[in-house]
Amino acid sequence: MEYVSFTQVIAYIGLGSNLAEPATQIKSARYAVDAIEGVQELAFSSLYHSLPMGPQDQPDYVNAVMCVTTELSPLNFLYSLQKIENDQGRLRKGEQWGPRTLDLDVLLYGDQEINVPDLIVPHKGLDERSFVLYPLFEIAPQLFVPGKGSIIDLIAKCPLSGLRRIDSHV
Ligand code: AMP
Repeated sequence: MEYVSFTQVIAYIGLGSNLAEPATQIKSARYAVDAIEGVQELAFSSLYHSLPMGPQDQPDYVNAVMCVTTELSPLNFLYSLQKIENDQGRLRKGEQWGPRTLDLDVLLYGDQEINVPDLIVPHKGLDERSFVLYPLFEIAPQLFVPGKGSIIDLIAKCPLSGLRRIDSHV
């Protein structure tokens, strides 16, 4: 019998939405990620309510973090997530911190540090964003973020900045 072995990598995805029923967008995105071939969900955080970064004349956000195992390459993983963003009506207006139906970020891909034109991992700003660090800590309290340190140390330096956990899970 022939055995095919794939390398499985543990990856973390940051999810965010502030338009068109954000909690529903996050829930749909979770199902869509679960449906990607070569990706299996391991954990999903609570939902969190956060204040917008940058322009303040936009609705508040709902955020979550998801842990998966994947056999996709880093770029194929990113492109699969971007397809989900587009399928859920993401319009790219070139605005850095503008409102969005869905934002999916590759936070971590195994213990790799990646810097190519389309993909920077660990995600830029991960260590300064409460809406990333706190949900990440909820599902991976022992995590070490390559090049940045332990999640416990990162959280200790990151104020909540208005972040609140929402009771319901998706
Ligand atoms: P955003 O507007 O935050 O969705 O940023 C999207 C852009 O960031 C795309 O052009 C991606 O190629 C790029 N990018 C770089 N690193 C990452 C990452 N770790 N996760 C998601 N997008 C990334």
